[in-house]
Amino acid sequence: MNVHNLDCIFKPERIALVGVSTNPNSVGGKVLTNLVGSGFRGVVYPVNPRHEAVMAMPCFPDLESLPHRPDLAVICTAAHEVADLVGQCGAAGIPGVIIMSSGFRETGPEGQRREEEILGHKARFPEMRIIGPNCLGVIMPDLKLNVSFAPHTPRQGHIAFISQSGALGTSVLDWAREESIGFSAFVSIGNAIDVDYGHLIDYFGDDEKTRSILLYVESIAHPRKFMTASRAFARSKPIIVYKAGRFPESAAVAASHTGALAAADDVYNAAFQRTGLARVFDIGEIFDCAELIARNKIPKGSRLGIVTNAGGPGVMATDALVAAHGTLAGLSAETLASLDEQLPPQWSKGNPVDVLGDARSKRLARAVRTVVSDPGVDAVLVILTPQAMTNPTRAAQAVADIQTETRKPILASWLGGHLMREGVAWLNEHGIPTYKTPEQAVRAFMTLVEYSRNLETLYETPRDIPVEFTLDRKKIKREFLAGLQPDERVLSEARSKQLLQAYGIPVTLPVAAADAKSALQAARQIGYPIVFKVHSPDITHKSDVGGVILDIRDDGQAADAFHAIMRSVREKQPEARLEGVTVQKMASLPEARELILGIKQDAVFGTVILVGAGGVTAELFADRSLGFPPLNERLARRMLEDLKIWPLLKGYRGKPPVDLDRLIEAMIRLSYLAADSPEILELDINPLLVGPGGILAVDARMVIDPAVAARPAEPYAHLALRPYPEEYVSEAVEMDGHHIVFRPIKPEDEPLWMEMLGSCSRESIYSRFRYFFQWASHDVATRYCYIDYHREIAVVAEITGDDGKKRLIGVGRLIADPEHETVEYAILIIDEFQNRDLGGLLTDYCLDIARKWGLKKVVAQTTADNHRMLALFKKRGFAIHTDPRTSTVDVEKDIQEAK
Ligand code: ADP
Ligand code: MG
Repeated sequence: MNVHNLDCIFKPERIALVGVSTNPNSVGGKVLTNLVGSGFRGVVYPVNPRHEAVMAMPCFPDLESLPHRPDLAVICTAAHEVADLVGQCGAAGIPGVIIMSSGFRETGPEGQRREEEILGHKARFPEMRIIGPNCLGVIMPDLKLNVSFAPHTPRQGHIAFISQSGALGTSVLDWAREESIGFSAFVSIGNAIDVDYGHLIDYFGDDEKTRSILLYVESIAHPRKFMTASRAFARSKPIIVYKAGRFPESAAVAASHTGALAAADDVYNAAFQRTGLARVFDIGEIFDCAELIARNKIPKGSRLGIVTNAGGPGVMATDALVAAHGTLAGLSAETLASLDEQLPPQWSKGNPVDVLGDARSKRLARAVRTVVSDPGVDAVLVILTPQAMTNPTRAAQAVADIQTETRKPILASWLGGHLMREGVAWLNEHGIPTYKTPEQAVRAFMTLVEYSRNLETLYETPRDIPVEFTLDRKKIKREFLAGLQPDERVLSEARSKQLLQAYGIPVTLPVAAADAKSALQAARQIGYPIVFKVHSPDITHKSDVGGVILDIRDDGQAADAFHAIMRSVREKQPEARLEGVTVQKMASLPEARELILGIKQDAVFGTVILVGAGGVTAELFADRSLGFPPLNERLARRMLEDLKIWPLLKGYRGKPPVDLDRLIEAMIRLSYLAADSPEILELDINPLLVGPGGILAVDARMVIDPAVAARPAEPYAHLALRPYPEEYVSEAVEMDGHHIVFRPIKPEDEPLWMEMLGSCSRESIYSRFRYFFQWASHDVATRYCYIDYHREIAVVAEITGDDGKKRLIGVGRLIADPEHETVEYAILIIDEFQNRDLGGLLTDYCLDIARKWGLKKVVAQTTADNHRMLALFKKRGFAIHTDPRTSTVDVEKDIQEAK
């Protein structure tokens, strides 16, 4: 498939090189040398009106005079000429453009204007795809295509490397040569005015030669596209990302704890985690991980076996492993016995396995083989030091042989220089990643462990925590928005808590009291013990000014407390407007911990949810994790698991665990509120008391954007991920005494989905999937139940039995292409419900969704003998094409025009 029309750039047959000069050392000159020198089999047209020939190749004066239309134009002229040339490319019907010239956004407003001019031309030719400007170009080693001014063409391989920085790109390529790492593609995207990460991940995700993707990221302009594309491919192709600029600017002054806590880089981190990417933190690590992923071996867990011929390096590796939260694999009794047999009696008798300095390569290799086959070991690191008896090259050869026998990664660190060179080269050549130090090896290993852990959480089946709303959320929001004053920005504790309460989060509601008398009255009404807090629109941190008095037990204490608060606040913040106090119930949650739970808007990724250690020390410890709404049980739990205080929540040293289910439920509820509320800029529950007996929000504060509140944006535009599409949940329809609900599938449906497939005959499964596939595994089930609702929607038909048990009786699935034009449709109905027109109802429902989704065409496939399906499609006006040789039937229908 020509994903995003990018074949013209990555598989061109004819290339026009515009702006090539006679100087072989200019950018254009280098590109021409590379193009010709790399052995490109296609045609190259140098274009330059000022010369008859460059480097002995005849020049064409302009694009119009070319004998054939090129697929790709490469522009290396001065910046001010570029926009015009892009317009000419469009007019000439050239589909692909790479702009290498610099002098654009990176140079200031004039450059910015030039970019806009280019986009103006591009708008007239929407099919045209542009890479750059300010980029290093594109290399496709497999096609011997080097459209870049990089000094070498890297060797052929399976990594697609996409880099925002050209300079970093060349250094990676150079390093890769040294390490015998190959690439399926190298793309320098530069300023990325058109083609961006999302497109390229889609393209190389679909590319057979690419097995993993490496990204060098400075900033992401289109987070939604990025996240959808990454999520679509992270499972099948590891994506490793290095993000530059971790500490870009001090956090902007924020009105709440949440705002101050969530730095932009943490949001990127959360985004990478949520999409299943592996992040590395320094350039060296990119290389180290690339080694491992290039070999295409991902560890299943964090248990590392270490085999070495010297004690010291084993200890170094162990230290590094423990520091990175890895696990030193425990060896099974069998493995130990076998090693006992093989090794001299002084061996280390455990992991790290020290085979001793006098070991020859055979002994080393045998030990590696034994350790790698231990089921408790996820990967093996082999460390070799130079020893008189050991031939490092032969040891490398022996270890390299084992690599082909196992699916577990083997990493090597041949410590030393000259003596080791030959062995290291052998390992590299034979697919074993090598590291200069054991620490580097451990770090690379742990990055990939983290990656597989991310994926695992991502696709773990969430427990179904029922989150039901007694009130209609739309109505809550309508009333809330109607109650706002024009220009109201910061909402009081009472107002904030009312909204939280409406969303089902338990709160202590404060009552305002302007003077001592009404404060007493309120206190009696609520019932002691109570809490007084200063009531002032100008005070953010109430306790800082002596504005909070807890545990007031009677009228006498209340009277004193009122005056104490007034006195203290007048003294500490005299200019603040004072409106008396608020009165609320004193929470009594035994053994409660204080958490912070909040919402924040990030400039790039939109709304995020934050949870962390709370109370007055929230900023001090900065123990927090971020997530993207909507959350489900698994994602919320993972956020908690990532906190340093997680052990305290789970129960620690005799302390009972907190009510995690209620906490997770509150997080999910808050994520609904976040998804429903583009106007919330910040929301801060601090603290949320969380104890074994429940949870309670005792302080809350909210900042809203009055402009958004007044003029609601397109739904979910503030979210990086599309939430569960509740709008596609149908009313129940009646059929043969059953009430059937059609609704999009969700991850929690996995057990029901499996049950449904279990109740289907082999024939039904075959006619849906076209092969007898093994559906009864979590891995497979997640692929079908965990979808992004952006590119894929599956609609299930659900019935509820008399016993309240839910069952899925059919599922229709829509998968859109990356351009969002054509959608593939497939349907499965369980045998018991076939022949009752459930298929028809479900299909109509799905086609309706496809139409609302803005898709243009539906395609589906079936077989000539599947008369029921064919009848169904025929009845709905699908065009039917039968392939007489295979008896496959392709059906299709335009759904926008034809209704
Ligand atoms: P601040 O504006 O200083 O954050 P808070 O309302 O959070 O003021 O109160 C400060 C502290 O007092 C909280 O961190 C919490 O420990 C405690 N607190 C506040 N309200 C209550 C309450 N209703 N019940 C019990 N403790 C409370
Ligand atoms: Mg507080």
